Amino acid sequence: MHGTVPASNDKPSIINGLSVDVEDWFQVGAFENSIRRGDWDGIKTRVAGNIDRILDLFAEADVKATFFTLGWVAERHPAMIRWIVDAGHEIASHGYDHARVFTFDRAQFAEDIRKARAILEDASGQRVTGYRAPSFSIDARTPWAFEELAEQGYAYSSSVAPIVHDHYGWREAPRFAFRPVADADLVEIPVTTAMFGNRRLAAGGGGFFRVLPYAFSRWAIRQVNTNEGRPAVFYFHPWEVDPDQPRVPNAPLRSRLRHYTGLDKMAGKLGELVREFSWGRMDRIARNEAARAIVWSGEKAQLDTAA
Ligand SMILES: [Zn+2]
Repeated sequence: MHGTVPASNDKPSIINGLSVDVEDWFQVGAFENSIRRGDWDGIKTRVAGNIDRILDLFAEADVKATFFTLGWVAERHPAMIRWIVDAGHEIASHGYDHARVFTFDRAQFAEDIRKARAILEDASGQRVTGYRAPSFSIDARTPWAFEELAEQGYAYSSSVAPIVHDHYGWREAPRFAFRPVADADLVEIPVTTAMFGNRRLAAGGGGFFRVLPYAFSRWAIRQVNTNEGRPAVFYFHPWEVDPDQPRVPNAPLRSRLRHYTGLDKMAGKLGELVREFSWGRMDRIARNEAARAIVWSGEKAQLDTAA
């Protein structure tokens, strides 16, 4: 422990959402042009070993989290799904095989989330009520996605990055919980951004957490909890705690830089993060936030984001 870390009574009391997007090292967007889906079954899996490490880390810190899991992964690792559930965590859906929502039409999306959910409920023995789009791929191009999630009875989604990024993002979306379908209970809980002046900074995990010093994430989550009084939503991937994963030599340099930077320090940073703040499952955050969620369907984007 470091002497400068504030005592635990200094912890903001707000419970933040902790989430893991469960996919194997070869299933990430950065490698989608280097490794074909059809070849996945022939590649050596590492996801279960990484999940084992993550479950230990969460147990040591006594935190519960949500594991947004690919149907494809759950089909092949049912025992791993039971480890997660037996430790008190939530299993939610990350779609079947990481195809991004804007590559589907509504009927294909409906089928993808139906298939993934059936596999996940079968493996976990629990009802799946949450969904996270692969690569935060619900945006202005997919106006039907939230309607479909509501129709299939999902309680919440955490599928929007309310920021612009080169691979994803919905700049106009609200930063905190909103109801995207006016007459449904479905709540969308966007991944966290922090305000720096008038700018939204990505602060909910991914490459930013690995590449930037931990002090940035501490500052950002404290801003959100203390100054704005709202929960943060943080996510990471099993492959991020795995410095020994195979390297993909034919991937673009930029993808490799983004994928491999900071892997060796990730577990240590995560340890600090889970000890320093209060964390819970996403279904709990969705319940806590439901009453405060504004209605926002994306159509009056320009009006609502001024605030
Ligand atoms: Zn993913």
